[in-house]
Amino acid sequence: MSKPDPLPAKRLRRTNAPAPAAAPVAPKALSGKAQRHFAIIGAGMAGIACARTLVQAGHRVTVFEKSSQAGGRTATIDSPFGSFDAGAQYFTVRDPRFARAIDTVPGICKRWSANSVQVLDAAGRVAAVGLPHREAHWVASPGMQSLVTTWADPLAKAGQLITHTRVTRIEPDSLNTPGWQLRTEGPGGTQHVYAGFDAVLLAQPSVPAQALISSSGLDTSLTDALSAVAIAPCWTLMLAYPQAVRPGLTTLGPQWNAARSTHHRIAWLARESSKPGRSVIERWTIQASPAWSAEHLEDDEARVQAKLIKAFAEVTGIRAQPSHADTRRWRYAQTTHPLGKSHLWDASTGLGACGDWCLGHRLEDAFVSGLELALKVA
Ligand SMILES: Cc1cc2nc3c(=O)[nH]c(=O)nc-3n(C[C@H](O)[C@H](O)[C@H](O)COP(=O)(O)OP(=O)(O)OC[C@H]3O[C@@H](n4cnc5c(N)ncnc54)[C@H](O)[C@@H]3O)c2cc1C
Repeated sequence: MSKPDPLPAKRLRRTNAPAPAAAPVAPKALSGKAQRHFAIIGAGMAGIACARTLVQAGHRVTVFEKSSQAGGRTATIDSPFGSFDAGAQYFTVRDPRFARAIDTVPGICKRWSANSVQVLDAAGRVAAVGLPHREAHWVASPGMQSLVTTWADPLAKAGQLITHTRVTRIEPDSLNTPGWQLRTEGPGGTQHVYAGFDAVLLAQPSVPAQALISSSGLDTSLTDALSAVAIAPCWTLMLAYPQAVRPGLTTLGPQWNAARSTHHRIAWLARESSKPGRSVIERWTIQASPAWSAEHLEDDEARVQAKLIKAFAEVTGIRAQPSHADTRRWRYAQTTHPLGKSHLWDASTGLGACGDWCLGHRLEDAFVSGLELALKVA
């Protein structure tokens, strides 16, 4: 572990991390164990699953999120024509613990009729009908982000979720060894130190988690494990065609609603308007293939958008000009080489890590990882 830096008192404000305003979820009695305070970095599915489990076990948590809201890679992006699920498109439920957790927020998750999912060849012709696994496809409503934000809401109300706040450094607590403190950067470059944590749990994608550990100069067994994980990027294109909503013409192009594609630029296409609880305006979300995304990761956004619109027209036959086009670059999108176990925990330092990358590349993997890290440390 590195020595703590002295706090530059003039620029930095030191705060003992906030006490919760109210208990977000009824905590259990701790049956003889002392309550501990966990810092969680990242409010995606893994971080929020971890946080709510620790609170249920009677511990204190403070979750730090660099974006304006919880959700991470389940982000739902609004447009004048309706929302787009820019990251996760749908999810499957295999673990009964995930099913039980979903039951705590009735009405949020709905089945998406994915019997219309097609597998397309490179020219957009249907190569196979349906996905290999005929299991239920679920979406959160009104957008994919809603599941994580609904679970995060009690934490936010209790002051245990701090958004717009990027953690820039993890260091030993200068006043409370062997605890931890976090340096953060907020809106307008404001810097802050939050102190008083017994443990720090990183719930970011593996690459930024590894970078944060390394730039903080921490000596932990997490480092080697994190370096074995690989994650591919993804460019996402979102298109709206309000001109398609006319009497007698509700959709443009193909009659299917979602497809995997072997086109070299495009891996996945989904008609957003076919998902339950969405606006009816014709909207498509297109995920570029991992290889093409990696090759064009640093390209100009306008150029990427034009190339993906061209490929979309080739695959779907939709050649009309979209009224709305937007792109999003995911630098860390889909795990290509997972860790192979549900979480990392270094008891000697009080540092842990969770995320989808521990087990795979699915939303449920992120949930299970966050849950199992919490159960390990609670
Ligand atoms: C394009 C795309 C399509 C996908 N499609 C599907 C699908 O169809 N089905 C499916 O099951 N899964 C899909 N996934 C995967 C799914 O979205 C992820 O498995 C899941 O959302 C990962 O959750 P997580 O909590 O592990 O990580 P994330 O959701 O990445 O959460 C990490 C959080 O940490 C925050 N953060 C990072 N660094 C810091 C820092 N220094 N300080 C503060 N906060 C920080 C980030 O802002 C983020 O909110 C898809 C993902 C992408 C990108």
